[in-house]
Amino acid sequence: MEYVKTRTIMTKADGGDKWFGIDYHMNLYKGCSFGCIYCDSRSDCYHISNFDEVKTKVDALEILESELASKGYRGVVSFGKLSDPYNPYEEKLEITRNALKLILKYGFGVSIDTKSDLILRDLDLLTEIAKTNSVIVKISITTYDDELAKKLEPYVLSSTKRFEVLKKLRKAGIFAGVLMTPVLPFLTDNEENIRQMIECSKKADAKFIYTKMGMNLKTNQRAYYYRKIEELYPGLSQDYEAVYGNKNVCNSLQYRHLMEIFLNLSHQYGILTDMEEIISAYKKEVLMNEQISLF
Ligand code: SF4
Repeated sequence: MEYVKTRTIMTKADGGDKWFGIDYHMNLYKGCSFGCIYCDSRSDCYHISNFDEVKTKVDALEILESELASKGYRGVVSFGKLSDPYNPYEEKLEITRNALKLILKYGFGVSIDTKSDLILRDLDLLTEIAKTNSVIVKISITTYDDELAKKLEPYVLSSTKRFEVLKKLRKAGIFAGVLMTPVLPFLTDNEENIRQMIECSKKADAKFIYTKMGMNLKTNQRAYYYRKIEELYPGLSQDYEAVYGNKNVCNSLQYRHLMEIFLNLSHQYGILTDMEEIISAYKKEVLMNEQISLF
């Protein structure tokens, strides 16, 4: 485990960034060992060398505490923009867990993205934070098919188990749902996958499921992805090149058709899909809790 120096842990989310109502981004670790072949965080623009090796930041918790103490606005802090906060090292190091304790101490809300069941260890803290502040958990799942997931995300918990994690979070009263990003052209952008993802989300009592029905491909990350899909499906990278060229945003060729199915079925089951509705639902829940506690 390499330790890297840093001066800051938290950064303010862009004014125009309405991504899940997040106010601050935070990365306690650098890099990720889960091996997802499509991972956008591999892009040069994020300047993370040896991305697949997890690095810890020196004095991360001390820096975080002074940053939290100095912020005037107690907004929602995001864990996991560029790396999974529940990587395998976290079980021993407990950096994410201790950061959650600080979030609770200083009265912030929290937004977590993960593919790991280790988040269940911290249910006590999430439940405590949710009593007075906004909490949202996004379980990242790209396909219901465990075999395909194993190829695309080799060191991650199976999709079936991720849905089980979601169900447990929901049972504990946490506002949680599915982040279905990316949707990979030619691999997961088909009717069966979209329908099954929603069926599994419903069984897990997901509050929301969010997708853009496409993927991002940027320079070196594109090269890495093409290399990996060529190993798995020889010739497939040529199909990508023919359709998308050098585009960064690569939407499914069946975007309209799949979106229609996605929206119809999700709404039929009462699962939120719209970003603004998701934000107002999880922030409103806190407001309602506060109001209830007044009586
Ligand atoms: S878990 Fe997230 S950060 Fe880690 S490799 Fe997969 S997509 Fe990237």
